[in-house]
Amino acid sequence: MTVNEYWSLWEESGVELQPVKRKKPKTTRTAKPETVPSSVKTLEGVQKWLGSCTRCGLCRERNEIVFGSGNPKARLMFVGEGPGADEDKQGLPFVGRAGQLLNKIIEAMGLTREEVYIANIVKCRPPSNRVPEPDEISQCLPFLKAQIDLVSPEVVVALGLTAARALTETDHNMANLRGQFQTIAWKKELTLMPTYHPAYLLRNPSAKKIVWEDMKLVKDRLGL
Ligand code: SF4
Repeated sequence: MTVNEYWSLWEESGVELQPVKRKKPKTTRTAKPETVPSSVKTLEGVQKWLGSCTRCGLCRERNEIVFGSGNPKARLMFVGEGPGADEDKQGLPFVGRAGQLLNKIIEAMGLTREEVYIANIVKCRPPSNRVPEPDEISQCLPFLKAQIDLVSPEVVVALGLTAARALTETDHNMANLRGQFQTIAWKKELTLMPTYHPAYLLRNPSAKKIVWEDMKLVKDRLGL
């Protein structure tokens, strides 16, 4: 386990840690995050706008950009932190062990993976699965914002603390965020449920019960 994975594990569990200085990666750009061009009106358009993106330093070590996948008109959207090794190889979100667990959660909710939409806060794998840096998140977020606008789900589930913090634009810990509906910072009308990341559940199976409590609230909200 890397230092950053260890850090995330403790943060996910709700334990407050003293801030430490993390090493800043070099980025390819320091430009302001882009806004959606008016010509972008479909998910394919977002993908075209993204192109072979080099807007942040995560482009250097990625194999594939993991754009997102699923039903373009999904009622439920899941947003994770970023691609892992399997996702980076295949170019698809949540296809590794954590993805298999997410599939089980989706099925337990009475849905199929094809019925939901799945994306991440950053679309390229951070080296050694470290937590994405704020500048990497801000460069990548406009594309996720466009995806959320176009899919227009009724509920978004934030998987893990990084996604929950990026979508709420807060630095609360998971214990404060989960268990009740929140709203997306820039889209207050959209319901958000933060919960633990499936990768956290693989390391802490006892938290599955807590996630299921959150998913039951989502199920009720969607009338499933
Ligand atoms: S993480 Fe996002 S902004 Fe950074 S290079 Fe990949 S696609 Fe571009």
